[in-house]
Amino acid sequence: MKTVIMGAGAMGSLFGGLLALSGEEIWLVSPQRDHINAILANGVTIEERGRILTVRVKATTDASSAGKADLVLFFVKTYQTEAAVSNALTLEKEDTVFLTLQNGLGNEEVICRRVDPKKVIVGVTNQGATLLGPGHVRHAGWGETHVGELKGGETGRGSRIAKMFQKAGIETHVSSQIYELIWAKLLVNVGINALTALTGLKNGQLIDHPETLRMMYALVTEAAEVAKRKGIMVDENPIQKVISVAEATRENRSSMGQDFDYKRKTEIDAINGAIVKEAKSLGISVPYNQMITDLIKVIERTFQN
Ligand code: NAD
Repeated sequence: MKTVIMGAGAMGSLFGGLLALSGEEIWLVSPQRDHINAILANGVTIEERGRILTVRVKATTDASSAGKADLVLFFVKTYQTEAAVSNALTLEKEDTVFLTLQNGLGNEEVICRRVDPKKVIVGVTNQGATLLGPGHVRHAGWGETHVGELKGGETGRGSRIAKMFQKAGIETHVSSQIYELIWAKLLVNVGINALTALTGLKNGQLIDHPETLRMMYALVTEAAEVAKRKGIMVDENPIQKVISVAEATRENRSSMGQDFDYKRKTEIDAINGAIVKEAKSLGISVPYNQMITDLIKVIERTFQN
């Protein structure tokens, strides 16, 4: 399967590197010329479990130079999806599959605006990566990856992708209820990410303070209610799950926390902002998610000045 990965950052380099090491034809695409030049010169380097793996990967700033793809995998930040989809249109042939494993909600909707929804599948990954330099990543977390059809059920293409990922050492399963898994991860991000960004705390410290714990509870309870109203099954006790993730990743700064540390734009619109949007269309009120989204957006704006 010829795979073109839109995004040559932390996750694109991790998946691209592991898949290339397993013998797959992989292209990494990014508009950052210095990153692409570094990947072309030095390959992709993955540091994991005390070893360093280096592999040659095809890379380009111009997706059209990759020809046609069997699989297009989106690993850009959620606010970059629209531009990445535009760039990826030249890769399309009749049976190309477009897969997003990005965080948050709404990525597939953006893809489906330009690509036939029949060609689009979604997923969620609990792998983690940190970018150390262009094409140089630390494999920071291991967890299951799930892929599934937008309308549920199972098809051969999900299994083919899962098999390819498995062969590369990326534990992957096909799910007939992929949105339940997407929402399960979303609820964790809703409870942790923006709170760490605003407070400067590490994930685990959120549960050490009654105030942040109370806000976490409110954010997650609102989001779980939205999920239920949408008919998505979520954990009986979602707050407990969020607390255990915060505990298990106690020493980490969440990705949004790091975005704030480096004064970068965040994925708030796809996380707490997505809860606000969904709640609005259901006619329910989610004041905590609304407030935290507003705060993040106002502070983000000061970064651009
Ligand atoms: P990143 O910022 O490291 O990488 C994004 C890459 O996309 C960069 O190389 C950027 O140059 C490139 N890009 C920007 N615009 C583009 C375009 N128009 N076309 C092609 N490439 C473009 O981000 P990341 O950490 O790899 O995260 C990617 C997605 O995966 C996010 O949604 C994130 O939430 C999700 N995710 C990240 C992790 C993690 O551990 N890093 C884990 C799970 C999910």
